[in-house]
Amino acid sequence: MSERINEVILCKYGEIILKGANRSEFEAKLLKELRRRAKRLGNFNIYYAQSTVFCEPLDEGSADMIDEMTEQAKHVFGFVGVTRAIVCEKKLETIIDMVKRHIPERIKGAKTFRACAKRADKRFPLSSPELAGEVGAAVLEATAGKIKVDLHNPDVIVQVEIRDKYAYIHAGQEKGAGGIPYGSSGRGLLLLSGGIDSPVAGFMMAKRGVQLEAIHFESFPYTSERAREKVLELAKILTDYTMRIRVHIISLTKIQELIRDNCDEDYFTLLLRRYMMALSVKLAHDIDCDAIITGESLGQVASQTMKAINVTNVMADLPVYRPLIGMDKEEIIQISRRIGAYDTSILPYEDCCTVFTPRHPRTRPELEKVIEEEKKLNFDELVEEAYATRYAVVVKQFGDNIIEEKK
Ligand code: ATP
Ligand code: MG
Repeated sequence: MSERINEVILCKYGEIILKGANRSEFEAKLLKELRRRAKRLGNFNIYYAQSTVFCEPLDEGSADMIDEMTEQAKHVFGFVGVTRAIVCEKKLETIIDMVKRHIPERIKGAKTFRACAKRADKRFPLSSPELAGEVGAAVLEATAGKIKVDLHNPDVIVQVEIRDKYAYIHAGQEKGAGGIPYGSSGRGLLLLSGGIDSPVAGFMMAKRGVQLEAIHFESFPYTSERAREKVLELAKILTDYTMRIRVHIISLTKIQELIRDNCDEDYFTLLLRRYMMALSVKLAHDIDCDAIITGESLGQVASQTMKAINVTNVMADLPVYRPLIGMDKEEIIQISRRIGAYDTSILPYEDCCTVFTPRHPRTRPELEKVIEEEKKLNFDELVEEAYATRYAVVVKQFGDNIIEEKK
């Protein structure tokens, strides 16, 4: 059996949030987010000290979950770096022994390194440069020339921190999720389709502290059960970051059929999108969201030209956040892959926006003409009727979805 070493997870947060009067509120949110996640995995002591949040397993079972807990920490918005550190007593021999025995394994693959030491406890007998020198020599010895020193641009930094009680040794900080703590900006309603863009849009706003609710429109039987499952799966992927998301589902079947049977084909998509916006705004007010979020990107499709976006935007009396508006599809796909949504997003199921699509959609629609088409149906009544079809599914990172009937 391999030797058990004491380890803790060190989570470092970005500087921006340290400024100003909100600092303690942000810190409290970060601790809360980590604790909520840790609770599922074991018994961890989570506390803040010296610009770092410590996550320390308190028993063997929890220590065995340290990989999982590290993954969790990497998904908490607000942390820029996450590191697993070896904890040992503050004696030079012990530190050097630990470095020699455990660091080579942790820096495997790196060609260059730099050793670095920090002393919060100034009583430690060596200065930081002296300690760094000792650590560097130990790494060189233990790796038998396989890795070289590079002070300026090393592949990996081996660091020893001498803090109040213990020494902490770590190598290679992993990137944290960045951003600001989830929920610290307020609540927003994400229009979630089954595509590539909208989960990325949700991720980006969540990263800026927006707590997400989601709304999905379907058009059964033109859209299938599997299409809905796919959307719920995408929501589930986002819960890696958000822990849970409530997805409100509304049926547009009747509206779409009436549009198809009564309106000018060229305007089908725009008319539908105005209903979607009206329903989203209504829901946002009902569930206390301060903004609508969409995955629109300028010029991506006919309904996302400036004029077409205006046609839907005028329906909203709340701000509409479109974090992807200036991004190319390639850039969006990169983020989609990074958050693990891409493979699900490209599953080929239909969306309500892709049933009854016009052959010649208007790319420069005149609002008056759209409104004229819209008047062929009783807009308000149809919105009320569609709104009444809604129900919600609470999607959680851990555990099964919960279906909530409307209140
Ligand atoms: P995505 O934008 O998610 O990749 P898409 O490109 O197929 O899907 P678009 O037609 O570009 O979707 O729609 C633009 C935006 O409108 C989406 O990003 C999403 O925010 C919203 N939207 C589209 N269809 C739906 C739907 N069925 N339910 C909820 N929101 C939707
Ligand atoms: Mg799109």
